[in-house]
Amino acid sequence: MSHVIAIDGPSGAGKSSVSRSVGRRMRFLHVDSGALYRIMTWQCLLNKIDTSNPEAIAEFSQSVEVECIPEEGAITYRVNGERPGNAIRTPEINRHASPVATVKAVRDRITQWLQEMTRFGNIIVEGRDITTAVFPDSPARFYLDASAEARAERRRKEEVKKGIADQSVEDVKKSLLTRDKIDSTRKHAPLRKADGAFAIDSTSMTLEDVIETVIEALPDSWKKDLK
Ligand code: C5P
Repeated sequence: MSHVIAIDGPSGAGKSSVSRSVGRRMRFLHVDSGALYRIMTWQCLLNKIDTSNPEAIAEFSQSVEVECIPEEGAITYRVNGERPGNAIRTPEINRHASPVATVKAVRDRITQWLQEMTRFGNIIVEGRDITTAVFPDSPARFYLDASAEARAERRRKEEVKKGIADQSVEDVKKSLLTRDKIDSTRKHAPLRKADGAFAIDSTSMTLEDVIETVIEALPDSWKKDLK
């Protein structure tokens, strides 16, 4: 049976950098579950679906097909043969993703896709409900958090570096906090620290410290191939 490392936390807590690096060192495929919610949102917007209408989103979501391909240490996604790239990382997608992610039909569909990814082997999955709803039985579950200021600063740097946007730290922080609120108060699979998950506050930790902390906490029997 495949092993699953599950990492949840709010936006900008460092989940992606940590899971990519831990995945590389453990030889576990990296799975970005947020990208699937972003793809769903992108497809809704492209098809002029009203993202304030849960019934319309629920119905439309059943027609979205995503191809999952293991490639260079990660699961990559294609929609109609196209890689979404930075089209799913824009401020517009940031604004609409959390409302789309409140819809149960969307969550059920994406949860099933994620659970089926164990067919590719050992995986490290990051998101908002991985430790609570998608893989609640994994023995390696983490909740990664950081102050809102640190998260906004990191997100802004990332957006500027990728050439996606150049918003002020204040605007990035506002957008993060709005998403956090929707994500943690929604009815279905809200963002919360799961009982028994290992909590890490990365505010004043280096990326390398967080990676070491996660690896240290993994079951010893999983570390035979550690790089
Ligand atoms: O992680 P990322 O910021 O890319 O996620 C985008 C949005 O997708 C989140 O704000 C959240 O609303 C939703 N999401 C979720 N459950 C996950 C991953 C992401 O609801 N497991």
